[in-house]
Amino acid sequence: PLDPVTFSNESKVIDFIADYYENVEKYPVQSTVEPDILEDVSNCIIPGLTHWQSPNFFAYFHANASTAGFLGEMLCSGFNVVGFNWISSPAATELESIVLDWMGKMLKLSYFLFSGTGGGVLHGSTCEAATRDKALKELGGWENITKRVVYASDQTHFTFQKTAKLAGIPPSNFRLIETSFSTGFPLSPENLRFAIEDDIKSGLVPLFLCATIGTTPSGAVGPIAELGKVAMEFKRWLHIDAAYAGSGCICPELRHYLDGVELANSISMNPHKWFLTNMDCCCLWIKEPKLLVDSLSNDPEILRNNASKSKAVVDYKDWQIALTRRFRALKLWVVIRRHGLANLMYHIRSDIAMAKRFEALVGEDERFEIVVPRKFALVCFGLKPKVEEEDLNCKLVEAINSSGRAFMSHAVLSGIYVIRCAIGTTLTQQHHVDALWKLIQDKAQSLLM
Ligand code: PLP
Repeated sequence: PLDPVTFSNESKVIDFIADYYENVEKYPVQSTVEPDILEDVSNCIIPGLTHWQSPNFFAYFHANASTAGFLGEMLCSGFNVVGFNWISSPAATELESIVLDWMGKMLKLSYFLFSGTGGGVLHGSTCEAATRDKALKELGGWENITKRVVYASDQTHFTFQKTAKLAGIPPSNFRLIETSFSTGFPLSPENLRFAIEDDIKSGLVPLFLCATIGTTPSGAVGPIAELGKVAMEFKRWLHIDAAYAGSGCICPELRHYLDGVELANSISMNPHKWFLTNMDCCCLWIKEPKLLVDSLSNDPEILRNNASKSKAVVDYKDWQIALTRRFRALKLWVVIRRHGLANLMYHIRSDIAMAKRFEALVGEDERFEIVVPRKFALVCFGLKPKVEEEDLNCKLVEAINSSGRAFMSHAVLSGIYVIRCAIGTTLTQQHHVDALWKLIQDKAQSLLM
């Protein structure tokens, strides 16, 4: 690969050309190259990939894949249908509604099911699952957008800031409420209330609140029931982002993190993170789908048909911004049918068991500390701070990653650099986690010498 730094090094270029002239007679005069796409994939693409499916991938949040998800994705590509409205592919729409109700039942989201008064839709990512439109309409449309305020915590995924910006909310009206180390970084209902009251006093209009179950930096969980009460009191839209940890909540012992979800207006989670579903797949449920449909629907002549006119069907084009959409439901359906609830719970629990063991290993080594209590399969840890060597943990991550034997990422929590160990890649087994810990210890030993 042409690394720009290397390429801009003049003397290297000159040496390279000199070598070429020296060897020019060794090459066949006329090129004998034949196009071979797979060989190019092996030679040119694979060296440039970060291997997200490697069992030694412990960075960010994983992108789970499975044979069932892969086969479902192949069927989706094979059919290549576009189900923008019911008539354009009835089975695609019907299956999506069924699968969203299946997932919703696994998570006990009774207020969000088609079989009740709610409903769900599949998007590609959390960012696409934008739900702000309802609140904008209720507050009198798009006028005075500069007065609207959006609330989240300083741990909320940056995707929500982007969405608010796209909606025209000025960045100065995005309140990133500070979280605290001592409580483990959840969004505090009291601080939320203070921020809302302050804004109202200044003539601003609170609009939308995002609470997270399983934040990206540390896996923190907002107290949904209490946040929901504040949102209801001020009649604001409450969205729950459970992108990563939502999958975990299919297990009865973790479901309590969703207590109070009935107070939310919408919730999203990503099966492409921790539910064995190949990318991309994000479930979004809305308690009152009509509000979303009213803000996003249109009725162009070329799409008019009797089914839509009857209002007895779902036209998913009215649940999203784009028109074209993939038949994502097929792969989620194959994953759920192939594995079933019991196996899916087993998958989540085995990742959590590996994370627990990793956490215990860290705890046994007095040079290290667990920085945030673990809730799911993410462990935030680091070498105990040493005044004389502030960036020790940053150096440790660099040493681990440059070894090529594992890949980890970091977060900064209350100004402290922490190493994140996210366990959940489908192929990861206990021996990979043990080898990771050995690698971490070895690299730490060299750094501390
Ligand atoms: N929300 C949370 C809590 C996340 O951790 C992430 C990604 O890691 C996202 C949202 C955005 O995810 P995606 O773009 O895959 O939907």
